[in-house]
Amino acid sequence: MLRVDRINNGIVLDHIQPGQGLKVFERLGLRRAGYSVALLMNVTSSKMGHKDIIKISDTLDIDLTMLGLLAPDATVDYIENGVVTRKVTPGLPEQVIGLIECKNPRCITTMERQGKSLFVLVDREAKEYECAYCGERVRV
Ligand SMILES: [Zn+2]
Repeated sequence: MLRVDRINNGIVLDHIQPGQGLKVFERLGLRRAGYSVALLMNVTSSKMGHKDIIKISDTLDIDLTMLGLLAPDATVDYIENGVVTRKVTPGLPEQVIGLIECKNPRCITTMERQGKSLFVLVDREAKEYECAYCGERVRV
């Protein structure tokens, strides 16, 4: 069993779907973090079989929209003085601004390369979003 120090103050992203941990790590910019960060992959989980975990030894602002897109069912534990003070599950965001690229070549956001894309959640089960400008659907 791999052991990583418990953190006294910081954030633990738990129950990340196996394989998504690295993406979350990259997209949240944790590679550039100036504090210790641990990425654990394929940890045995009684709930999920396997899971990824990220431990961050600092209380930074986590981008919950980004996290929700990549790992909607993850849990975010905020830890202060060794105690979990807050637990959040991000869920799929209702609206996503600027993070999803529209695949429709005729879409205004693709053609003009200006302004930010806007996608709206249309099917939570299927994880499907619709471009607010052209109606193109994407699964995340
Ligand atoms: Zn579009």
